[in-house]
Amino acid sequence: MEGFKKTKRILITGAAGFLGSHLCDRFIKEGFQVVGMDNLITGSLSNIEHLFKLKEFEFYHHDVSKFVHVPGDLGYILHFASPASPIDYLKIPIQTLKVGSLGTHNLLGLAKAKNATMLIASTSEVYGDPVVHPQKETYWGNVNPIGPRGVYDEAKRFQEAMTMAYHTYHGLDTRIVRIFNTYGPRMRLNDGRALPAFMGQALKDIDITVFGDGSQTRSFCYVDDLIEGIYRLLKSDYIYPVNVGNPQEITIKQFAEEIVELSGTKSKIVYKDLPKDDPKQRRPDISLAKEVLGWEPKVSRQEGLKITFDYFKTLPEFQEVHS
Ligand code: UDP
Repeated sequence: MEGFKKTKRILITGAAGFLGSHLCDRFIKEGFQVVGMDNLITGSLSNIEHLFKLKEFEFYHHDVSKFVHVPGDLGYILHFASPASPIDYLKIPIQTLKVGSLGTHNLLGLAKAKNATMLIASTSEVYGDPVVHPQKETYWGNVNPIGPRGVYDEAKRFQEAMTMAYHTYHGLDTRIVRIFNTYGPRMRLNDGRALPAFMGQALKDIDITVFGDGSQTRSFCYVDDLIEGIYRLLKSDYIYPVNVGNPQEITIKQFAEEIVELSGTKSKIVYKDLPKDDPKQRRPDISLAKEVLGWEPKVSRQEGLKITFDYFKTLPEFQEVHS
């Protein structure tokens, strides 16, 4: 049955991260009691410090790959804890594997004990370097298990398998969202991903580093659109994976050019080696999300990039140069 149940207390793992912190804001706004959890390896308390004064918010500093204990009722668990950037997987590969596998198992156990609905953050990376384009949920993917991205991709694939097993074997109420590239305020400036890298370089007037020849494509979704898709998925009763992302596809070279234009920087675009196993193309087919959630993105890249650039400008490291 669609709609939320009576127990409006929700555990959000990765609460101090980019997506986790936006989810905390949204669920508090929707009248939920939010229990945030994070081990702060890649998350930052500055993303949630505005919530600490609210009685609707509690926070546990904890690593979910260890046994998870939360006292009291829980209606929902959103598992968003994970390093999410390719340079993070290289730096902390074992933690990346553990949070997606052991962490997911612990949280599924907690969901079962509390009779909570469990929603997991899966990813377009389950499709690997896709040979089917655009990617539909029925595509099984093309992942190199032992490449640099394998630790993330395989943990997320295991996470999906484990979640479906808890659904079919234990009858647990579950949701799986496959998230495509998302951007917006609270991304980490130095997380190594294209958007913060380009915006940071533009603000410092240093070279903008496009990897490869920049012909690889991505499709960037503004964070508010993504959060709306996740909110609708949780409220729905759809248990199979759903792609949530923006189908507007561009090359990374074009993306860099858009950021150069928006920022008015003097930076030049330079070309560096393409990292191993970097997917050549990526675009979600969102017909399923349209059909089962009545969802599609609303924020254009022009609007979203402007809001995000304005956010990066406010960071302390840019204050002296730009105030
Ligand atoms: N990229 C780039 N310059 C950078 C960082 C990333 O050209 O400084 C490229 C990267 O090789 C990839 C694309 O931008 O082709 C998106 O990379 P990101 O790390 O943002 O996400 P993902 O590869 O996981 O989609």
